[in-house]
Amino acid sequence: MSKAAEKGAQGGQGRLSGTVVLKFGGTSVEDSDALRRVVRIVAQRNQPVVVVVSALAGVTDQLLSAGEQAASGRLSAAKASLHAIQERHSRLAGELLPKTAGEAFQSYLRSECEEAEKVLQGVAALGEFSKRTSDRLVGKGELLSSRLLADALRAQGSNAAWVDARECMVTDEAHGCAAPLREETDLRLCQQVSPLLASRQVPVLGGFIGATVEGTPTTLGRGGSDFSAALVAAGLDAGALEIWTDVDGIMTADPRLCPDARLIPSISFAEAAELAHAGAKVLHPATLLPATEKNIPVYVRNSRRPQSRGTRIVPEGVQPAVRAITAKRGVVIVEARLRRQADAQTLSQVLQACEGHSLHLCSLSRHSVVLLTDSKQAVRQMQRALEDVAEVQGENHKAIVRVFGDRIGRRTQLVGQIFQALSGIEVRLSCPGEGERNLTLVVDEDQAAESVRRLHRLFFPAAATGQPEKELSQAGVQ
Ligand code: ADP
Ligand code: ASP
Ligand code: MG
Repeated sequence: MSKAAEKGAQGGQGRLSGTVVLKFGGTSVEDSDALRRVVRIVAQRNQPVVVVVSALAGVTDQLLSAGEQAASGRLSAAKASLHAIQERHSRLAGELLPKTAGEAFQSYLRSECEEAEKVLQGVAALGEFSKRTSDRLVGKGELLSSRLLADALRAQGSNAAWVDARECMVTDEAHGCAAPLREETDLRLCQQVSPLLASRQVPVLGGFIGATVEGTPTTLGRGGSDFSAALVAAGLDAGALEIWTDVDGIMTADPRLCPDARLIPSISFAEAAELAHAGAKVLHPATLLPATEKNIPVYVRNSRRPQSRGTRIVPEGVQPAVRAITAKRGVVIVEARLRRQADAQTLSQVLQACEGHSLHLCSLSRHSVVLLTDSKQAVRQMQRALEDVAEVQGENHKAIVRVFGDRIGRRTQLVGQIFQALSGIEVRLSCPGEGERNLTLVVDEDQAAESVRRLHRLFFPAAATGQPEKELSQAGVQ
């Protein structure tokens, strides 16, 4: 048990055994039908439940672009976007809540939107949309969705209690991508959430949002509600974390790219974290850490098909040769052609020159260093910093395709099959990925989907012929 949980327990408000944290993504709360499904999923539980919810699908993007519009002098367009968000929540409240609860929600909605409008006016006046201001604005999405869901749950007879997540999730001041202060967060969760569980209520919190120790609103980075949910699960020593989304679980490829994708019923923490990092958007990359540390089982499930068993993320497992294929777009290949032969000093200069930008892969030859990054700005930064050392060139619109499987880079036969399957597609770079658990390939961005489909057909052929899931286990898909 964490120190904070112990403190809570001493006060009689510690861990409640069997608590399950249910996280619902934006697609699971996008409209009134989706919200009703969530209400049913929560109501069917007969154990202590904490709910963490994202903003309604699309709202975070809309709030961000409203901020950008205001900063570029288009205040009325920004206000119109905000108004549309207000209307959407108001309509949902009308569909889901009885009169009195509906009026209380509408008044909360009005006051939050009025505050958001003031933020937009400030942004327009200054002509600047800082990360700090952005956090204040975009956080409204999760405040509204969580409040609406709590009210909808109560309207259907669940004993739900809305919790302002900014009072529980304590973070540093890195606006836009703040890091949680774990001890303080655990303590607040035990003080504010555990007593609700003890009195058989269902606490409902917005994901993604937090606040500094001084109370300034922050956010945990895009897709951060998964991370919030894992932090809540870890802080409360929950028995399980369930991530509810719009697909059956973690699949052998993104089902939007590859309709043949199959469910992976169980996957190890390490593999799931790598898949997330490699672009399997179904989970936020950092999500799993708080849960891994505490060995809390994590499940990924479909809120549209709650009967489907989902994916279970387990500490370890016996894995088939190829587990999944991912694609990450928007990658830039940067090549630094060195003016003299590479040595430790030049290499370290090159790496220092891309400080602040994420790197995916690095290959080194006598006269060149090749890096992959998500950031177009990295090229200009490197050109400036390395003027005397190298000629730096960038190529945009690339994608990283990864084939996941244990020690895959060493299985020469599999690697041969991979290249054969991709014949006609130019593979610009290839190398074994982290921990030898994947093979990393770089292709043109517009060839990424086709590459995933071809590789998927190669390794999961049964799915392509519509073979039922039962038979897939014999074909190497667990
Ligand atoms: P939520 O709104 O629930 O947070 P996200 O959009 O963040 O949902 O994540 C779910 C999406 O992740 C799916 O709709 C799917 O298109 C995408 N995805 C990408 N790779 C995978 C994968 N390997 N398995 C399952 N889903 C994936
Ligand atoms: N609403 C936030 C986003 O869209 C966080 C999340 O949904 O996880 O990034
Ligand atoms: Mg998500």
